[in-house]
Amino acid sequence: MNSTPETTPDLLDKVTNLAKRRGFIFPSAEIYGGFRSTYDYGPLGVNMLRNVKQVWWRSMVQMRPDIVGLDAAILGPPAIWAASGHLETFSDPLVDCKKCKERWREDKIDGVCPNCGSTEFTEPRAFNLMFKTQAGPVEGEGATAYLRPETAQGMFTNFANVLSTVRKKPPFGIAQIGKSFRNEITPQNFVFRTREFELMEMEYFVPPADADEWHRYWIETRRAWYVDLGIPEDQLRLHEHAKADLSHYSRGTTDIEFAYPWGWDELEGIANRGDYDLTQHAKASGVALDYFDQTTNERYTPYVIEPAVGATRAMMAFLLAAYHEDVVEGESRTVLRLDWRLAPYQVAVLPLSKKPELESVSREVLELLQPHFMCDYDVTQSIGRRYRRQDEVGTPYCVTVDFDSLEDRAVTVRDRDTTEQVRVPIAELLASLRERTGQS
Ligand code: ATP
Repeated sequence: MNSTPETTPDLLDKVTNLAKRRGFIFPSAEIYGGFRSTYDYGPLGVNMLRNVKQVWWRSMVQMRPDIVGLDAAILGPPAIWAASGHLETFSDPLVDCKKCKERWREDKIDGVCPNCGSTEFTEPRAFNLMFKTQAGPVEGEGATAYLRPETAQGMFTNFANVLSTVRKKPPFGIAQIGKSFRNEITPQNFVFRTREFELMEMEYFVPPADADEWHRYWIETRRAWYVDLGIPEDQLRLHEHAKADLSHYSRGTTDIEFAYPWGWDELEGIANRGDYDLTQHAKASGVALDYFDQTTNERYTPYVIEPAVGATRAMMAFLLAAYHEDVVEGESRTVLRLDWRLAPYQVAVLPLSKKPELESVSREVLELLQPHFMCDYDVTQSIGRRYRRQDEVGTPYCVTVDFDSLEDRAVTVRDRDTTEQVRVPIAELLASLRERTGQS
């Protein structure tokens, strides 16, 4: 178990500022004064967020013969959420500060109003976190719809469809990435907790007797995923929920926690949902949601192990862990030491000068690399400044085209972390970058 991390509040400010300044994450609707707790992902952020989702999909679906994907609807009828228990229990305890009237989530404020310091609150009442809306041109009960607060239910309601179409048998999983919505009482800490966010969830259906073993397997597999992508082991720890704190569907949940600037907090939850969801939907819909094992002649409702993480929250953790300030050749720099699979740009092609002679060979290099790597192309400012700008957004490799390139058909490859520079023939450039990124 890792010890309490030092809190580093200025790190959150630095990363938030960098994210805005360099086009990762903008506060939403800023020209109208902003819209609390919503964010837009800019040109670099959208690349990185796509990479986070791609790396997750690769490890959870592409590399797994036992897991298939799904993309279910965001809007759903009340019946789903009545059966899943969300209508009744997906709520947080809401209190009003008696002095300043601000509203807070009781379990997040330690009895003291973060706004005015008062310790007097109204009695907590359950506040349902689901966004309710109307589907179609008529109002009234028949038209009520909810925006999903998790993607999981789409995987349970499609359990029989998936089982009959892809011929999987337990243990097998269904994975999904998609927008989810929770009317959080106190959204906070940049994109850590927002009302609209993207979830990456996988429901792994197993024979009930094997559930504990698979739970342990997924906790370790998911922890290793973060370490493989560059989060230091000592910035991660596991936290097992006490029975009293479990969600309504859970038989046991372990969180992977990350050392955020404000201390340890949840990054990903891995729950054993038991047979709760399939049983509830089978009862409510009248459709059998179970599995008949022909080898043992037994019919049973599988248990579900669910690793669930916000893509946006994971992206934030990767940014925080990657942020470093160091000194190179007597000059301080900010560098994001992002794994190349996550970096918004993997390669930057930098003509040494704006002179037209360099343009054609620079374009040639860019076009050589573009099908294989997300590339930036930057011709403005001195080469030193341009290296710093690429370091700051985590670009692992800069490829500089200079006047010698016209003669020797070679370019300089600069490594973000070591700042080492080597001369590489253009003919070998692609192979060299593929080798450096472990792709050959
Ligand atoms: P909390 O109690 O902190 O509000 P939770 O434990 O209910 O959250 P889960 O339902 O376990 O959260 O959600 C699974 C994962 O989804 C979380 O580990 C987190 O990565 C992500 N997540 C949940 N809520 C949000 C949110 N409002 N914004 C961003 N990510 C979220």
